[in-house]
Amino acid sequence: MTSIKGEEPKTQASGQHKEVNHKSLLQSDALYQYILETSVYPREHECLKELRDITAKHPWNLLAVSADEGQFLNLLVKLINAKNTLEIGVFTGYSLLATALALPEDGKILALDVNRADYELGLPVIEKAGVAHKIDFREGPALPVLDQLLTDEKNKGAFDFIFVDADKDNYLNYHRRAIELVKVGGLIGYDNTLWNGSVADPPELPQLDYIKYYRGFVLELNKALALDSRIEICQLPIGDGITLCRRII
Ligand code: SAM
Ligand code: CA
Repeated sequence: MTSIKGEEPKTQASGQHKEVNHKSLLQSDALYQYILETSVYPREHECLKELRDITAKHPWNLLAVSADEGQFLNLLVKLINAKNTLEIGVFTGYSLLATALALPEDGKILALDVNRADYELGLPVIEKAGVAHKIDFREGPALPVLDQLLTDEKNKGAFDFIFVDADKDNYLNYHRRAIELVKVGGLIGYDNTLWNGSVADPPELPQLDYIKYYRGFVLELNKALALDSRIEICQLPIGDGITLCRRII
């Protein structure tokens, strides 16, 4: 297995090439490639493909969700008939576009990121896809925006779907707020919850610094979600791991 998984920068261009430096946790590159080539790339929206190609030139391109995860998010949003959604961590917008394409014409995404420049790299493609009107992008740290939303009772339980893919050291803080913002029966998705596969490694195993730094926060989140009686959960090994949480009370 030659994969280097996680969210470190990579220089390899993305596209219909052999994915070696990918984030999948599958134990075979060939199997992952098979999934991409059989089920994902042939059905990928042309604007998603264009956005993936633009993102591939970015030094931090591995921050974007993978094409198979984008396909999953797109289907999930349709399955739950989501209309009002929230995304924390936009980058160039691959997960955002996958979500926006799945929403109905009057669907909405409140999209939060500290960095507008990366969002603007993808924005022309989002506009070309005809879904920019669904997106309310706000630049800045997400936590104060969530706190602001929670000051208004009408935002409580207002979201059908919340996708969290930003600063992992704040995931528990996001959860405390997201659980109030999502409706009962709605979904929260936390990305990267298998954290490069490191969650199952012995702590003494040498790790890249950024993996080591955030690992504790991801472990803490996973424990908290497993114990949280307000939600049902499912840990999926798509991409770097995504935990779906369905609010039940
Ligand atoms: N979902 C994105 C995609 O599919 O391309 C990838 C998101 S990337 C892993 C994480 C993003 O979180 C970065 O764009 C970063 O600027 C943003 N971020 C980091 N800290 C943040 C914060 N405190 N509030 C909002 N966004 C933040
Ligand atoms: Ca991610």
